[in-house]
Amino acid sequence: MEFDAIVVGIGGMGSAAAWQLARRGRRILGIERFDIPHAMGSSHGITRIIRLPYYEDPRYVPLLRRAYELWREIEAASGERLLIITGSIDAGPEDGELFQGALASARLHNLAHQVLTGSQLVERFPAYRLPPAHRAVYQPEGGFIASERAIAAHVRAAQSAGAEIHARERVLEWTPRADRGVSVITDKGRYEASTLILTAGAWMGEMVPRLGGLAVPERQVLAWLHPHRPELFEPARFPVFNVAVEEGRYYGLPIFEVPGFKFGRYHHRGETVTSPDGLRREPDAEDERMLREFADRYFPDGAGPTMALRVCMFTNTPDEDFIIDRMRGFPQVLIASPCSGHGYKFCSVIGEILAEMAVDGRTRHNIDFLRLERPALEGR
Ligand SMILES: Cc1cc2nc3c(=O)[nH]c(=O)nc-3n(C[C@H](O)[C@H](O)[C@H](O)COP(=O)(O)OP(=O)(O)OC[C@H]3O[C@@H](n4cnc5c(N)ncnc54)[C@H](O)[C@@H]3O)c2cc1C
Repeated sequence: MEFDAIVVGIGGMGSAAAWQLARRGRRILGIERFDIPHAMGSSHGITRIIRLPYYEDPRYVPLLRRAYELWREIEAASGERLLIITGSIDAGPEDGELFQGALASARLHNLAHQVLTGSQLVERFPAYRLPPAHRAVYQPEGGFIASERAIAAHVRAAQSAGAEIHARERVLEWTPRADRGVSVITDKGRYEASTLILTAGAWMGEMVPRLGGLAVPERQVLAWLHPHRPELFEPARFPVFNVAVEEGRYYGLPIFEVPGFKFGRYHHRGETVTSPDGLRREPDAEDERMLREFADRYFPDGAGPTMALRVCMFTNTPDEDFIIDRMRGFPQVLIASPCSGHGYKFCSVIGEILAEMAVDGRTRHNIDFLRLERPALEGR
């Protein structure tokens, strides 16, 4: 049988794409090499931050607004609570990119927000101990998504709409056909489809040779510490954060499921790999030491015993913007996934973008700045 679309990689993005396609009445096959969900890719570790005043680039804000709506839609479809609102903090030195970028996005898009000094921040949210001269943008709609649950919810909704999903099946090869369809060969069989959607996360470079140097996997480590004062780190009192401090850029979330507050450092120890299969998957003592040092200094009431450490992967592009596009020369092949460590919050809307591109030939969303053929990626 010929499918309308095959989605390769049923992680964050692929599961959302499968649902968006299936709810449009398309015959879908989703193929995932590990379990659904699993802890080998980029979406595990229970939660992911979502925040609106996007310091990285204000052009992401309209996508975020739609992402919020679609997270609420999948919650309604699945009957599960997946998006938890805590407010968000984007903080750093007053003249730094993080604070200034968040403020610019908030102002440009008329987002409700307040600017707090480091001292006002600790008065309002006592778990925070940033330098008094730091500035923070507090935005009340920030929060987090239960990322592993959301993958399962998207898959269940896709299945209810008729999608066929196979886990523990690895795509080995895909070949464009002369009639503009595609053949996909896995370790279990061969399938045909009109459209191929590649959402293989850190494996995208192996799936699409053009992405080799443009989608570079990087080892990350997440820590959960049991706070000395857990009441300060509950979702109702602890907004999710992105902070720039002299040691680097860090993010963190309140206690949820694991009995610890969770945080990590962007580009942790700078350990990129050529293939995710060669990644060092066990956290070590140095990972723990580095992360604990951050908590000791900036969240001392949170720096109790370690509850968990987990390794995960970023897939970095040279300009740290996403890549979402149709493949040049193969219009029946759509690619998404390389998201440089900030893509999960967008999975719901990226699913919609991919479905619109597959079904309507174009998307209503502005993704021009995320095209593969863009100046920052030329010649690389
Ligand atoms: C530690 C950490 C913290 C993060 N924090 C945040 C955050 O707070 N907020 C945020 O927005 N983003 C965050 N991110 C980034 C975000 O999690 C990723 O951008 C997002 O999860 C990527 O989703 P994906 O679908 O591309 O990848 P994945 O969910 O990994 O899915 C790709 C899937 O493809 C499958 N696959 C690969 N090759 C094959 C094959 N040959 N055959 C079949 N299947 C295949 C993989 O097994 C995998 O399941 C974080 C990332 C990490 C690592």
